[in-house]
Amino acid sequence: MFLSELGWREFAKHTAFHFGPLEQRNLNARFDTFPWLFERDAGFDAWKFGRTGFGIVDAGMQELWQTGFMHNRVRMIAASLLTKNLGLDWRIGEAWFWDTLVDADEASNPFNWQWVAGCGADAAPYFRIFNPDLQQKKFDPDGAYVSKWAPYSMTLPQIIDLKATRADALQAYHALVR
Ligand SMILES: Cc1cc2nc3c(=O)[nH]c(=O)nc-3n(C[C@H](O)[C@H](O)[C@H](O)COP(=O)(O)OP(=O)(O)OC[C@H]3O[C@@H](n4cnc5c(N)ncnc54)[C@H](O)[C@@H]3O)c2cc1C
Repeated sequence: MFLSELGWREFAKHTAFHFGPLEQRNLNARFDTFPWLFERDAGFDAWKFGRTGFGIVDAGMQELWQTGFMHNRVRMIAASLLTKNLGLDWRIGEAWFWDTLVDADEASNPFNWQWVAGCGADAAPYFRIFNPDLQQKKFDPDGAYVSKWAPYSMTLPQIIDLKATRADALQAYHALVR
């Protein structure tokens, strides 16, 4: 596992070296016409400051804001919520991580954002949309992580409907890859 993560990191560096910079241009040019909801609306602010009502995402965003670090699993879940459920352009999430991560890296950060969004090299298939509630059950079963970073989140209403936004995202992605 450790070696495969190092291999992934080197793949990011290799891609940035030969095809970068990666933080603006979609590696898969088909995504240049993808209908992101570019606006930095209320959803973006809620995501940034851990007020989405999705405990594991809110905890991760608080951990990031307070310490400059976030676990890899939570980075993937938070990035998936932003791009696939909130429908926001991966570049605004990438820029926020760039500003707040102490390990912000010009290859790994945009490379992994593009991977989550579906437009990257060897990217996650478009139909892979993390369900933050299920991820929380699986990876934080006793709630220790959420209680530590965002206990208030349990009382917040969830800002979007997971099912409906998932269906919208699948439709948009499907139209693109068809
Ligand atoms: C949306 C998103 C953005 C990211 N942005 C960055 C970034 O700006 N800078 C950065 O260094 N990493 C980034 N990563 C990758 C990964 O999250 C971190 O490298 C990892 O969390 C580091 O944790 P750790 O030091 O405990 O390493 P461990 O989990 O103990 O892993 C050991 C080493 O393997 C490498 N590594 C582990 N996981 C990954 C991975 N998925 N991709 C690439 N390398 C990995 C790291 O160099 C790490 O030091 C990002 C991942 C995602 C999903």
